[in-house]
Amino acid sequence: EMFGQLTSGLETAWNKLKGEEGLTKENIVEPMRDIRRALLEADVSLPVVRRFVQSVSEQAVGTGLIRGVKPDQQLVKEHVNPMHWLAYLVCACDYAIVSDELVKLMGGEVSELVFAKSAPTVILLAGLQGVGKTTVSAKLALYLKKQVCYQEFHTPPSLIPSSYSPALALGKSCMLIAGDVYRPAAIDQLVILGKQVDVPVYAAGTDVKPAEIARQGLQEAKRKNVDVVIMDTAGRLQIDKVMMDELKDVKRVLNPTEVLLVVDAMTGQEAAALVTTFNLEIGITGAIMTKLDGDSRGGAALSVKEVSGKPIKLVGRGERMEDLEPFYPDRMAGRILGMGDVLSFVEKAQEVMKQEDAEDLQKKIMSAKFDFNDLLKQTRAVAQMGSMSRVIGMIPGMGKVTPAQIREAEKSVKIMESMIEVMTPEEREKPELLAESPARRKRIAQESGKTEQQVSQLVAQLFQMRVRMKNLMGVMEGGSLPSLSN
Ligand code: GDP
Repeated sequence: EMFGQLTSGLETAWNKLKGEEGLTKENIVEPMRDIRRALLEADVSLPVVRRFVQSVSEQAVGTGLIRGVKPDQQLVKEHVNPMHWLAYLVCACDYAIVSDELVKLMGGEVSELVFAKSAPTVILLAGLQGVGKTTVSAKLALYLKKQVCYQEFHTPPSLIPSSYSPALALGKSCMLIAGDVYRPAAIDQLVILGKQVDVPVYAAGTDVKPAEIARQGLQEAKRKNVDVVIMDTAGRLQIDKVMMDELKDVKRVLNPTEVLLVVDAMTGQEAAALVTTFNLEIGITGAIMTKLDGDSRGGAALSVKEVSGKPIKLVGRGERMEDLEPFYPDRMAGRILGMGDVLSFVEKAQEVMKQEDAEDLQKKIMSAKFDFNDLLKQTRAVAQMGSMSRVIGMIPGMGKVTPAQIREAEKSVKIMESMIEVMTPEEREKPELLAESPARRKRIAQESGKTEQQVSQLVAQLFQMRVRMKNLMGVMEGGSLPSLSN
């Protein structure tokens, strides 16, 4: 799997740090060496790795980043306990510095495609042979056809059927221009793909110069009143002067809004170098990285922006026409760090938890007044988020939980709930009543059909949580939950 090795490399570094109480110049050396090695093995280019490691080290030392969390068995067990789900979000912040740096490295924000003020928007695609340029041309047309639809209905483009008609919706109408005059097969391929995605293709054979094809194609597009024109161009096995000159000519004729270089993720560092060269030679606005579904080492995705100064705007993740999507640096960083899909976790949590509940909970945690009502609310919120295995799968750093552990967690939640349910309102609000009175604990055990030991354990756990959650939140900036309040 892409990033698999990088992820486990970073995990090794992370585990070494986790046992520490705080970061120092000394204890950071070895984990940083691991990070460095992991990045290099992932084919991230050396200058990028150097800057990255330096930047992380500088920020990390002295921040008291590590929260005294120890990677022992106890923690693993507790992590599976869903009542700590809020704490997980906070724990995820331990990764924050590395994650922030990764996101920055990849360009920070998602880089949107730019559209011309007056139609048509012209997108010129360039790239070497075999990188997936022709495929991308058609994919991009389909993507644009569905784009507004995606924004309107919040549906991932891959879920919208390709029969979806732009005439009926608000998507952009597109036209493709076949400019790969050196490979007749490429023109045929584009015509076929155009039919498949239901987008017209302008082709003029192989005897016309690309710049002339561009001129004619653009005219045709204007006549047809399309919103976006996408031109596929000829690729070579390597960069050569003829190709660059041709691209320059085509660019002059088209005056494109976007010039996107298509690069193949499998080529590693080479991809970042190509983006740099093309940018210097013809001036580009960004890159499209294909074959991110393959098992390359992934370093290219990390290096492109840093090396070339140009962002990756879109990524290809498969051979189907639907497999093209925006490049989200934050989601990519999350995947690399093996944090699970933090974003969807937070989104889910937001859905089930009202803002005022979240704020209320936060106040209670900060003043160490977290009580059994809150605990019950939390577990119910978790239950609402879906099956335990799904929830746990979304939690950062929780990738390796076994089904048995999940069943165990589900069982312990039920036990916990049944004990809280028989508590009086006063007991729920004041756990100290239970801490002080064995008679109350005995009653709860009897009414819930559990043992007194289980009740004692629950009470002890609540007090532990008070301390742990307050500590976790306290060291965060402003003591707030950024993930929930944004
Ligand atoms: P071109 O020479 O740059 O025009 O490349 P093509 O568009 O002909 O694509 C070359 C090969 O790469 C084809 O077999 C495509 O199906 C394949 N391909 C393109 N993009 C992707 C992708 O994102 N993932 C995978 N797995 N294959 C891709």
